[in-house]
Amino acid sequence: MKKLVAALAVLLLAGCGEENITNVDVEMHNAVGDSLGTIKLGQQAQGVKLELDLEGLPPGEHALHIHEKGECEAPDFKSAGNHFNPDDKEHGLLHPKGAHAGDLPNIIVEDDGKVKAELMAPQVSLKEDKTSLFTKDGTAIVIDEGIDDGMTQPSGDSGERIACGRISKDKDEKSTKNAQDDTGEEE
Ligand code: ZN
Repeated sequence: MKKLVAALAVLLLAGCGEENITNVDVEMHNAVGDSLGTIKLGQQAQGVKLELDLEGLPPGEHALHIHEKGECEAPDFKSAGNHFNPDDKEHGLLHPKGAHAGDLPNIIVEDDGKVKAELMAPQVSLKEDKTSLFTKDGTAIVIDEGIDDGMTQPSGDSGERIACGRISKDKDEKSTKNAQDDTGEEE
């Protein structure tokens, strides 16, 4: 009987708290606008977990960072700004005064251009606090051409930006932005 009561309590708890967003999907695009797949973000006790399921990337090791602005303007993605750094630290997972909250381990893309990986971003959150990724202008995830050496300022000497995805609570926002604004001259 005690077990039954405990099970009911768990069910009741699971039904609450749906207003807080605890996970979000980020669609990644390359410099010519192709979709590369999705990175799923999920809030956990230790930070935010990233689950990558991507394809169409150049094989090899690449840097991956969370950037301070939620704007992915191809082809160079400079619009995403610098690495997300709410605590004003130095760049690099190996730097004694680091790291940026947006600094993440390098990823390895297989020979077929695909990558499936899970990693943690312990210094960020999906909650409403100082390290929240849901800032006013949004944030973004960017993949670089090269490897982050974990030390060089300001961004690990990791080369050009080759893919970008906007982190946003609002799923439809980015698709409506490029909708047919310029048409309608026909009549
Ligand atoms: Zn950094």
